[in-house]
This record gives sequence, structure tokens and C-alpha cells, in this order.
Amino acid sequence: MAARAQSRDRTLVVGAGIVGICCALYLQREGISVTVVDPREPGDGCSFGNAGVLSTGGVTPEAMPGILRRVPRMLLDPLGPIAIRWSYLPRIAPWLLSYAWNSRAEKVEQISIALAQLSKEVIPAYEPLLGDAGLRDMVRKSGCLYVYESEEAFRSARPAIELRRRRGIPAEELPGEEIRQLEPDLAPIFPRAVFWPGFAHTLNPKRLTSALAEHFARRGGSIFRGEVVALERTGEEKLVAVTRGERLEAARIVVAAGAWSRPLAAMLGTRLPLDTERGYHVMLPQPGVTLRRPVLSSEGGFVMTPMEHGLRLAGTVELGGLKAPPDPKRADAILKRARRMLPGLGEAGSETWMGFRPSFPDSLPVIDRAPHQRNAYFAFGHGHRGLSFAAITGKLIAELVRGGKTSIDVAPYRAARF
Ligand SMILES: Cc1cc2nc3c(=O)[nH]c(=O)nc-3n(C[C@H](O)[C@H](O)[C@H](O)COP(=O)(O)OP(=O)(O)OC[C@H]3O[C@@H](n4cnc5c(N)ncnc54)[C@H](O)[C@@H]3O)c2cc1C
Repeated sequence: MAARAQSRDRTLVVGAGIVGICCALYLQREGISVTVVDPREPGDGCSFGNAGVLSTGGVTPEAMPGILRRVPRMLLDPLGPIAIRWSYLPRIAPWLLSYAWNSRAEKVEQISIALAQLSKEVIPAYEPLLGDAGLRDMVRKSGCLYVYESEEAFRSARPAIELRRRRGIPAEELPGEEIRQLEPDLAPIFPRAVFWPGFAHTLNPKRLTSALAEHFARRGGSIFRGEVVALERTGEEKLVAVTRGERLEAARIVVAAGAWSRPLAAMLGTRLPLDTERGYHVMLPQPGVTLRRPVLSSEGGFVMTPMEHGLRLAGTVELGGLKAPPDPKRADAILKRARRMLPGLGEAGSETWMGFRPSFPDSLPVIDRAPHQRNAYFAFGHGHRGLSFAAITGKLIAELVRGGKTSIDVAPYRAARF
């Protein structure tokens, strides 16, 4: 698939994660010649191992009111659903302060409205891409179930549930006895659950990304294997992406390099507070139990998603930067809780993984023209919802490139908000 486009009129997309590939496809639909550049295979970054949920109700920011009270626990419990590595605390402190600042009630409402605009477009923006590529069967529209192991956990989730309701996300609150009608294999340990019927999920996020990338290549797009180490301007307003060994000239560049986008944006003159919320998964190829839809453990901070290659347990947050090695105990902690939720869970052949969510402290992505480089665009920072918001991001980037009015107001996603 590694082909090289020589055209200087092409658009270069840096990053072959789900966001970069969706940008490439939407640009290609505009008749633009596109090259995607990445040192890895498409979908081998964070897009490889997510929980696969296409969140049509992803309208709650990560930092909700009261988050500050949880910080001591984040520091003291390295296996908790949100943990901060002590060694990374000095680096992440400014990000954390901004995260806390964004948890004020009026700010949360504002962020939620901005998230809702994107959430509404999750499925409509994917439809044409999946339809064209013959991949509709990779998405199941069977909703998502949030389960609570105590009345107290349910009470503390109430503000988030109400926020979703205010944004018009349909929900059904279920008492304990009704939960097992939806999911008979769940243990009878949940007094409460909320069913979100509008959610969907993919059967394999990695295969979805690589299949979309193959479709892009079949339609004439090229994918170049290389790491962009510098972005330079040439005299005639062209841009050059420098890889180890190649100089790729382009009429415009889209930065979609996920958690690694910060230095690339800085090369284009914009400093942004992008960091990473590391997350883990455990893949169980022979789970021996059946779930009909993704089930989210509220206390555990992870989702159990039925996929084509087994059951995936994925989630939790570790603030520890891009360099520290994974902590296998965090994956074990997910598995331990899942055993209690799903009696008889089969663990043979299990595999663990860690990925780097690209996250801004206000839980919103940057989808924008680069403020200091008119022929460059930013599409990164999607945090917990990159799979969900990838297609609408691609659509918006193509609209920004075309010029004129975008189909939704992109003001909340501007880089200049920081
Ligand atoms: C445990 C977990 C569960 C999750 N669950 C969900 C979920 O259920 N639903 C959801 O919507 N989201 C979920 N997410 C979030 C989602 O996976 C991410 O937001 C999304 O994958 C980000 O996509 P991306 O394309 O921006 O980044 P990536 O997939 O990380 O892709 C970035 C690409 O850029 C490349 N790159 C980096 N630097 C350079 C460079 N210098 N030159 C060239 N290429 C470069 C990388 O190699 C990589 O391939 C989850 C994340 C985790 C960790």
C-alpha cells in the first residue's frame, strides 16, 4: 500500500489513525489528491485498541464538577479508574489545572453543547464512508448499557445522566431485575443501569481503520511509510514534510497525528496543551460468555465490547505521558473487575494493550485551520471519542479546505481557544 504521490498540488495528511484516514477520505471525495504519511500501518496507534463505541451520546466532558475532590485518590491509587503517575505530575500540572478549571458548571454546559454538535453527526458522517467502502456490516446499532454496582455510584453518575438528557440523548433507566433481560450473562450485582439505545459500536476498530485506508488507496490515494520529523515552508507557499530520507512537498497539510501532534503543531507556529490519557485493554478471544452490546462499568471506568475476534475490556485513564512503559497491573485490574461482572469469563489466549488518547484539558478536539499557516489544518485531540468523531472531523476538514461555511459551527474547536 506504500505508494508515493509526487504531485505538489496534493494534500498531505500526517497520521493514519482513524481521524487521519477519515480526513483523507473526505478530502478525496472533494476530488483532491491525498497522500497519508505515517511510520506505522493504518490504525496501529490509539485507533488499534479502543472500545469500539460509536458514542452518539458523548456529550459529557471528562472533567465534571467535583473532579478536584478526586485528585488525591488519582495520586494514591495507581490502579484506580483514573490515576496520575507521580513522576509525570510536574509535567502534567498545567494541563490538570486547566482540566479542573474546565470542570466548572457553566463551562461543562458549554463544552457539552459543543460535544453534542459532533455527537449528532457520528453516524451520519460515517454512513457515506462505510457505504462507499462496503463496510456497513462492521457497525452494530445495538445501544450501550451503563451498569452501577451500588446506589451510591448511580447517585454520583446522576449529573452526567441529566446532562445527557438535557442534550436530548434518549435513555432508559433500568432497575436491577430488568438488567439481565438485556444481558443475561451479567452477574446479578447491579442495582441500577442506564440503557442508551442510540449508541452503536464497531466489531473491530483496527480492521475498520485499515479497511477504510485500503478503500482510500483503491480510489487512488497514496499511503507513504515515514515519520514526519519537520514541517517547512518553501518560498512559493508550499509546505514540505520532512521524513527521514524524503522531502514530501504539498499544497497543504493536515496534522492528524493523534497524541503526537503537539510538536507538529508547534512547527507550524501554534503551541497547544495537548497531552495523553493512556488507556488499556484486555482482549479475550474465547470469553465463554455473551454480551449483546457494549456494557460500561461505571466504577471500573471501562467498557466490555463484543467484537468479531472476542470480548474487549477497554478503558481507564492513566496520566503518565508518552514515554513511560505500560503498567501491566492496570490491565490486570480491569480483568479482575470484569471477572466479577461476568461469572465464568474465559481468559485463555488473552492479550493486553495500552494506547495514547490524544487529549485536551477541555475534552474537545481541535478541528481548525492552523492559525499561523493558512494552508495547514489541525485535526487532533479527540480524547475519549476519537473513533466516534473521526468521520465528522474528516467532513469538517474537507469543508474548511473547500472554504465557505461549514455544516456545523467549528468555533468551539478552534486552536485559538487556548
Ligand atoms: C482504552 C481506550 C478506549 C477507547 N475507547 C473509545 C471508544 O469506545 N470510542 C471512541 O470514540 N474512542 C475511544 N477511544 C479513543 C480513540 O481510540 C482515540 O481518540 C482515537 O483512536 C484517536 O485517533 P487518532 O487518529 O487521532 O490517533 P491515532 O490512532 O493514535 O493515530 C495517530 C497516528 O499518527 C501517527 N504519527 C504520530 N506522529 C507522527 C509523525 N511525526 N509523522 C507521521 N505520523 C505520525 C501515529 O503513528 C499514528 O498512527 C479509546 C481510547 C483508548 C485508549
